[in-house]
Amino acid sequence: MRSPGSVFVLLCAGLLFNSSLTAQKSPNASGLTAIVGGMLVDGHGGAPLHHSVVIVEGKTVKAVGTIDNLPIPQGARVIDARGKTVLPGLIDMHAHSDIVGAGVYDQWHPISKARYKEFVPAMEKHLLFSGVTTAREVGGFLETDLYMRDSINRGDFPGPRRLVSGPWINFGEPAEGEKRHHTVNVNTAEGARSAAIKLLDAGVDLIKAYPNLTEDMVRAITEEAHKRGKHVAAHADSVEDMNMRMRAGVDSVEHIGLGRSGAAGTSYTPEMLAHIAQSGIAIVPTLNVGLVYDETEAFPGRLENPKELEFFPAEFQDLVRSSVRNYSHLRYFDDKRRGGAHVPHLFKQLVDAGVRILMGTEAGTPLNFHHSAAPREMVWMNRLGMSPMDVILASTRRPAQFLQMDRQIGSIEPGKLADIIAVDGNPLHEMAAMHRVSVVMKEGVLHKGRAGTAGTNATQLAR
Ligand SMILES: [Zn+2]
Repeated sequence: MRSPGSVFVLLCAGLLFNSSLTAQKSPNASGLTAIVGGMLVDGHGGAPLHHSVVIVEGKTVKAVGTIDNLPIPQGARVIDARGKTVLPGLIDMHAHSDIVGAGVYDQWHPISKARYKEFVPAMEKHLLFSGVTTAREVGGFLETDLYMRDSINRGDFPGPRRLVSGPWINFGEPAEGEKRHHTVNVNTAEGARSAAIKLLDAGVDLIKAYPNLTEDMVRAITEEAHKRGKHVAAHADSVEDMNMRMRAGVDSVEHIGLGRSGAAGTSYTPEMLAHIAQSGIAIVPTLNVGLVYDETEAFPGRLENPKELEFFPAEFQDLVRSSVRNYSHLRYFDDKRRGGAHVPHLFKQLVDAGVRILMGTEAGTPLNFHHSAAPREMVWMNRLGMSPMDVILASTRRPAQFLQMDRQIGSIEPGKLADIIAVDGNPLHEMAAMHRVSVVMKEGVLHKGRAGTAGTNATQLAR
C-alpha cells in the first residue's frame, strides 16, 4: 500500500494554489474538482472514510473513494483536505432572514423592512461560510424572503439554498410590535385557509402556524400546504396544543423550553415522549434560543469578535453591537433566561426517547449571529446528550429526508449535488471543530477555501 503521506508531499508540491480565500468560480480544464485527503463523513452514519477522494463534476458528485483506489483525473482542480473532515453541507432547519442578532426588535424591524437589500447578502454569506448550504426560513417578511431565495437561485449573490415561509399565520389581532412585521392574522378556519392559499400562491415553500390557532384553523392550513407538496412548521405551547397540532397534521414543531413542544412545564411525561417518537413528527429544538444568553454570560467577549458581523456594512455592525452591549437588560431574555434552565433536561429526554430531532439555529435572534449559529447549535446538541455522529446526521441527511430532498442533498455520494464542506480537525472527537469550516462548496461552486491544479507528476503518483 502506498503511504498517504508520501503521495501528498509530492501531490502538493505540484499544486499551484491561488492565494484568494474567497469564491473562485473559474473553470478548470477538465471541469473536474477533486477534494483530496480528508476524512469523509458522508451523511449515512457509517464509519468515516480516511484519506478520501471526492470527485466533483459540474454540480454533482461523480465518484467517492480513497487516494489508493480513486485516481485524481488529469487537469482536475484539487482541494487539499488533509487534516480536515469532509462533510455534506449543513441544513439549518430554522433560520431567520429579517433579523441579524440585534437586541431590540422594535428598533430593528422598521430598519430591516426598509433596508433589507443592504444586509441580506452579508447575512447569507455568513450562513454559507458557516457551512450551511441549505436553510429553512421560518417566519419573516414575505418580500425579504422571496428576494433572498430568488436572488441566491439566480446567482445575484452567494448564499445557501433557501426554503422560505414568509409571515406566520396566527389567530386574532396582531400584538402591537407585530403589526408592521411578519404575521398574517385570521379569525376563522376559512380565513386561515385563504391566508395559506395566498402565501402558497405567492410562492412560499412552507407555512408557519403560530401558537394561538385553533385545531380547525391548523387543519385548514396543513390541508392546503400538503395539497401542493409543501409542509407546515408550528409552535406548540402546551401538551394539549402539541397533541392538537399533531392531530391536525403539522410536520415539524419548533423550539423546546418554556413548556413548548409538548413539555408539561419543565419535563416531558413518558406518554408524551412515546407519542412524539411514534408519530415521527420532527422537533427542531433550537437550543441556541434558551442557551445563547448563558453562553454570552460565560464569554461576553464573543460579542466583540469582529468575525461575527464582518460582512455587514459598518453602519449595521455599529447598530447591532450597540443594541446588544447591555444584553442583560434586553426584554427578549426575560423569559428565556428562566426557560433556558430546563432546556438541557428536556433535550436529553427527547434524545433518549428516539424523537426525530433536526438541527435548527434560530439564527438572527438577539446575540444569535448567523456567523456562528450552526456550530454553536451543534456543540450544544452534542454536549447535551447526542453523539457527534447523530448531531451530524441531524444537520445533514435527516433534514434532507424531512424536506424530501434526500435524492439531491444531505449526503456525499455519486449523483448527489456537490454540497460539500470541510472543517479543520475531527468533529466526531470534538464538535467545536464545526467552528472551523475552511471549505464550502455548493452545487460544485467553491465559495470558501482554495483550490489548485494537480501537477503532472503528482497526478501520476496519486494513481
Ligand atoms: Zn424562529
